Amino acid sequence: MKKRAKILLIYTGGTIGMIKDYDTGALKAFNFDELLQNIPELKILEHEIDTLSFDDPIDSSNMNVECWVKVANTINENFETYDGFVVLHGSDTMSYTASALSFMFENLTKPVIFTGSQLPIGDLRTDAKENLITSIQIAGLQKNGKPVISEVGLYFEYKLYRANRTTKINAEHFQAFASLNYPPLAESGVYLSVNHSALWRPNRRQKTKLHTGFNNEVLILKMFPGINAATVEYMLSKPGLKGVVLETYGSGNAPSDDWFLDILKRKISEGLFVVNITQCIGGSVVMGQYETSVQLKKIGVVSGKDISTEAAVAKLMYLLGKELSPKVFKTIFETSLRGEMS
Ligand code: ASP
Repeated sequence: MKKRAKILLIYTGGTIGMIKDYDTGALKAFNFDELLQNIPELKILEHEIDTLSFDDPIDSSNMNVECWVKVANTINENFETYDGFVVLHGSDTMSYTASALSFMFENLTKPVIFTGSQLPIGDLRTDAKENLITSIQIAGLQKNGKPVISEVGLYFEYKLYRANRTTKINAEHFQAFASLNYPPLAESGVYLSVNHSALWRPNRRQKTKLHTGFNNEVLILKMFPGINAATVEYMLSKPGLKGVVLETYGSGNAPSDDWFLDILKRKISEGLFVVNITQCIGGSVVMGQYETSVQLKKIGVVSGKDISTEAAVAKLMYLLGKELSPKVFKTIFETSLRGEMS
């Protein structure tokens, strides 16, 4: 008899399990176990499902590195017992948490699927049920006794994406996420169709390894026309700052003014790690393509290529936690570790 896949459902918070506070009209987190009992569909699924909920479920705007580690540790402690994991999370910062987990788990051999919803699961027009049920089915997909998906995925509105390629693009539409630089890993229609050639392939002879040492002394500096020297100097002089995600224009272009390049050059020589990513949600940084990025390359700015902002922040914190030399940092950051860049 075919073995039933064992899935652990971890509820961290988010709209999916929220209810309306009738005094204020605002959505607030609710006891998810109770809600689950009201979803008869879960009992029809062929999977064996256990649930775990954060003691205090949170809106994902309150996520931080400690919460990421808590989710990762929960998965790690249960890794041998379950075939797959579904993490229910608010959509607002889901791409950040899911990207962080993708770096935390080296050589992940089981599926970790993030999902959530735009409307609470108790709402008549909810998108939560489809997202939840299909995520469980995806986490339970097996071939020859091995999981089909062996990476951190994000499932939302009929599409499974590589999580560290996603960005939340809409605050209202059910289709809230996009992955502009990588195709979906699976699409759900009448059939669940998996894009096998796009899947990450771990080394099954090696174990999954957890890394939790993140350093959050980072900031995002988004370029805009009119930004001035005092602002850049002030931001990059923050005591303790270790890394900067520089969101530049187009294919990695920034002002070629001396004041800008001088500040960056000085800060880099003092030990700051600066990563260049594009403000565009699709496409890649190509330093040297335009005159306005040639100097950035020369002064030691690292190329983030086509990485998303969310994955860049997570990867920066992850690599800063390893205390690498500037040369090794540059080589590793510019290499795809978990399929986060092309
Ligand atoms: N504010 C909510 C959150 O991110 C939105 C959602 O769940 O979609 O927790």
